[in-house]
Amino acid sequence: MTSTNDLRCPGSDPLSRVVPELFQCLACNEEIEIWTDEVGGRCPSCKTYFKKIQLSNATTTPQNALNSYDAKLKQLIQNAQGSGATEAAIISTRVIVVDDDLADKCREPRCENYGLSRSCPPHISGPTVFKEHLEEFSQAVFFKIDVPSEILYSSERRELFQLLHEIAAGIEKSAIEMGFAHAQAYAGGSCKKVFCYDYPECLALAGEGECRNPGYARPSMSGFGINVAKLFETAGWNTGTNTHDAVSTANKTASVCGLVLIY
Ligand code: SF4
Repeated sequence: MTSTNDLRCPGSDPLSRVVPELFQCLACNEEIEIWTDEVGGRCPSCKTYFKKIQLSNATTTPQNALNSYDAKLKQLIQNAQGSGATEAAIISTRVIVVDDDLADKCREPRCENYGLSRSCPPHISGPTVFKEHLEEFSQAVFFKIDVPSEILYSSERRELFQLLHEIAAGIEKSAIEMGFAHAQAYAGGSCKKVFCYDYPECLALAGEGECRNPGYARPSMSGFGINVAKLFETAGWNTGTNTHDAVSTANKTASVCGLVLIY
């Protein structure tokens, strides 16, 4: 005898268990519908993307959640400035411009660091994958360190870029501890030049182990085509000539910068 189970389409069971769930947007309080088989969703009103776990962990009321979210972002700004950043700002990931042409400049004319570390082209995913990756985030911490331009051409350059990577990694770590589990930091400059200048090879690339500096070394923004000059404009900061690793302004100040993607 044929049971009712035998008559059911085999594909219908999983589908029948997929239902929509409603969450409150942490940015604008609008209702967000996310299906049970999705990891997150975008607010229909403010277009901010949230992971479901982030919305589920939100405290009792939407206003409390909003306050808590804002407080965390403010804390990240304070952390950046307390660690040595001249300025830091929260920006929407929707304003991050990714240019294939900028990434191509790592290869032609060839950057002296091209291919030397796991964090630089051609060993990173590049602009196309980065653009897709960006879709998973809604906010970012953008920060800069201002220095006299001559520092970029002095023996202090390495220390400057070390500080830059350390601040970026520090913000990423703080963000993860706050619950932004997928926070991802990027910095200017090649980590080979900054951290592994005394070694003939990048250990991670040589296949002889993991990165020597996992706590600090972060991928270079250039290889992903991140348009740093546009980020300066968005943050309302003084812009100037965009060099490979820095922005130099007319008043003989140079800025190096980093970016940390958060939810
Ligand atoms: S081992 Fe050195 S060069 Fe390689 S990714 Fe780590 S810091 Fe960069």
